[in-house]
Amino acid sequence: MSISDNLRFFQQQLEGSGCRLVTVTKTHPVEKLQEAYAAGARLFGENKVQEMAAKQPELPTDIEWHLIGHLQTNKVKYIAPFVHTIQSIDSLKLLLEIEKQAAKHNRVIQGLLQFHIAAEETKTGLTLPEAEEILQSEALRGLRHVRLTGVMGIATNTDDEARLRQEFGELRSYFGQLKARYFAEADDFREISMGMSSDYQLAIAEGSTLIRVGSAIFGARNYGAAV
Ligand SMILES: *Cc1c(COP(=O)(O)O)cnc(C)c1O
Repeated sequence: MSISDNLRFFQQQLEGSGCRLVTVTKTHPVEKLQEAYAAGARLFGENKVQEMAAKQPELPTDIEWHLIGHLQTNKVKYIAPFVHTIQSIDSLKLLLEIEKQAAKHNRVIQGLLQFHIAAEETKTGLTLPEAEEILQSEALRGLRHVRLTGVMGIATNTDDEARLRQEFGELRSYFGQLKARYFAEADDFREISMGMSSDYQLAIAEGSTLIRVGSAIFGARNYGAAV
C-alpha cells in the first residue's frame, strides 16, 4: 500500500466521525511529506523541534504543524514563527514561554494539555490536580498569544483492549471536567488528542477528535535515517 492509499483509507475511516487525522511524519524525509501533502494530508505531527523546523520551510504554508513530543522551554523560539498546535504542554512555565515567543511574532499558538494516562512511568504528562493548578494560576489570565484548545494523552503500549479503553476514557473524563470547570464558554476548547496506529479505532470509539498516526501511513520508522 502506498502513502496515498493509506491516507485515503484514513480519510474514509474518519469521514463524518468528527475526528481528524494528524499525519505523524517524524523520521521521514521531506519527499515523503510532500507525497502525503499531495494526497491531502494537512495536519502534520513531529516530535522534535529541530526536525520540524528543518522540514517546515520545504513544505507548503497551509500545513498545520503539531508538535507532539516533549518540549523544552529553551526550544520554543525555534518553532514559534510557524507551529499551529503544541500538543505536549505539561507546565505553566512552558505555557508562559509559548506566550512570550508567540507574542514576538504576533501570533496565537494553540496548545493541548498533555496528561499522563499510561501505566508506564516513562510516559510524561500531567495529573488532573496538576492541570488544575495551572488553570487556576493568576498568570494564566494575561495570556493572549497561546490558546488552550484541549487535551492530549499517550496510552500504554499494549494490545489489552480493556486497558486501552479505560485509559482513553480517563482522558475523555479529564477533558469533560476541565471543560465544565474552566472552558464552559470556550467553544474552541474541544480537542481530545488520542489514538495512534495500533489503537486509533478504540480511541475514536472513546471520543478522540485527533488521532496521531505515523507507521500505519508510512510504514515502520528507521530512527537511524537522516532527515
Ligand atoms: C510517534 C508518535 C505517534 C505515532 O505513532 P505510530 O505508532 O507510528 O502511529 C503518535 N503520538 C506520539 C506522541 C508520537 O510520538
